[in-house]
Amino acid sequence: MGSLGIESSPLQVAIVGTGIAGLTAAIALRKHPHINVVLYEKATELKEIGASITLGPNGLRTLQRLGLEDCISDQVGYRGPNPISRFYRHWKTNEIIGEDYYENVNEHLHYTARFHRGHLQQALLKHIPRDTIHLKKKLVAATASSRDGVKMEFQDGSTATADLLIGADGINSGVRTAFVKGFELEWSGHTAFRGIFDAKLVDSIEGVPLDSTHWWGPDTNFFATRLARGLFTVQGGIYADPQDPVAIAKFRDGGSWDKQADIQLLREKYVDWNPVVKALANTCPDIRYYPNYFCGSSLPTWIFGDRVTLIGDAAHAHGGAFATGGSLAIDDAYALYLAVMSVFPETATQKPSSAEILKALKLYEDTRRPHAVRLLKVVHANNEMKTKKILAETQETDEELRARAKRGSGTTWLHEHDVVKSFKEALAASSKADT
Ligand SMILES: Cc1cc2nc3c(=O)[nH]c(=O)nc-3n(C[C@H](O)[C@H](O)[C@H](O)COP(=O)(O)OP(=O)(O)OC[C@H]3O[C@@H](n4cnc5c(N)ncnc54)[C@H](O)[C@@H]3O)c2cc1C
Repeated sequence: MGSLGIESSPLQVAIVGTGIAGLTAAIALRKHPHINVVLYEKATELKEIGASITLGPNGLRTLQRLGLEDCISDQVGYRGPNPISRFYRHWKTNEIIGEDYYENVNEHLHYTARFHRGHLQQALLKHIPRDTIHLKKKLVAATASSRDGVKMEFQDGSTATADLLIGADGINSGVRTAFVKGFELEWSGHTAFRGIFDAKLVDSIEGVPLDSTHWWGPDTNFFATRLARGLFTVQGGIYADPQDPVAIAKFRDGGSWDKQADIQLLREKYVDWNPVVKALANTCPDIRYYPNYFCGSSLPTWIFGDRVTLIGDAAHAHGGAFATGGSLAIDDAYALYLAVMSVFPETATQKPSSAEILKALKLYEDTRRPHAVRLLKVVHANNEMKTKKILAETQETDEELRARAKRGSGTTWLHEHDVVKSFKEALAASSKADT
């Protein structure tokens, strides 16, 4: 236990948003005996919506580092029998045409796991006292300066102050809006339809793989996986020209997040696919829209007023690509925790000065922003390519599809990213610059 001087109060940290990013940051920072964390959430209750979410080895390792084995166990997340990161099957023949292998993952708990979003959120929430979370607090404005600290305003007219503000408020971040003018999100044209149901419903379908599986087709994909606690989920989707007014009206604007959708959309889309996919689409009782594929450009900085930063989707609007949003958010939160600890160890006798807070935020940014910039570059290039294909009405040939699946997704750099190594490199570079 450290011993802060009597004239020094704890470091007041405000986190806006109780998604995976905000909860992980809160759990990590609350380990420090002289940090006081308060969470602000716009929702009226801590009830999760959304479907499944994937965590890769990177996010799972980080949650384990935080002592959160109970959140990543098989009771909460689902792992298939084979230690293969991703299986790709052919849309028509159902044969396996590609696999993503682990390069450096050997522990069961680190194998890619699929979660019901609510299960994961509830597991994380067990590690946070309920009275640190303030609901119905939609952040609408904020100011910050090294001299005056952080001031926040909420929609209900209330205000709050802090030494450090962490914007963990997702893709439509209010914190980002308060500090970045003119930031815009673009719809990629992709809309997912997702359904979650009792896994017993698939018992009678022959050939449903035990491993989570992606079926790749020429113009869209299909994903199916078991989840913990006897659930099953399927995800289909459409890709449209993001400028097409019909698609915009029907999916982008008409299909708001988590809105009930017509099950026929799923059934008709996959009617010509192999019998397993077709049966899964027919068995799924209902679906919801997830037009969450909104992307933004890389932010030039993640530091505002020397005391504010962003984590998770708020920092990098990558539009759900590569099912990496959850793990990225966890690693952002952990990198920020390591950075704060580096300027404010538990044994510190004073809370960090403004300059030290800024130093921590720079370390965090140096650790994470280059990784996010690389990801956003890939995402924007892929989106452009997809739209060009849609406009040209060209389709991948079967040979091209098979060759693509054989190459795999090429995303080991994302899913096995080592945030601790990146942090150490950023720390070493910063120490060198200081000398
Ligand atoms: C409702 C919901 C369902 C989702 N479902 C899926 C899914 O099924 N599969 C998937 O892969 N990804 C899903 N995502 C996205 C996924 O959770 C994120 O990509 C990833 O986990 C990173 O999370 P995050 O904590 O950065 O942001 P988010 O998970 O988006 O969390 C942000 C939090 O901030 C709150 N918030 C937003 N604005 C404000 C504000 N101004 N003031 C106060 N609070 C605010 C939100 O209510 C939310 O609780 C979902 C996101 C949301 C919000």
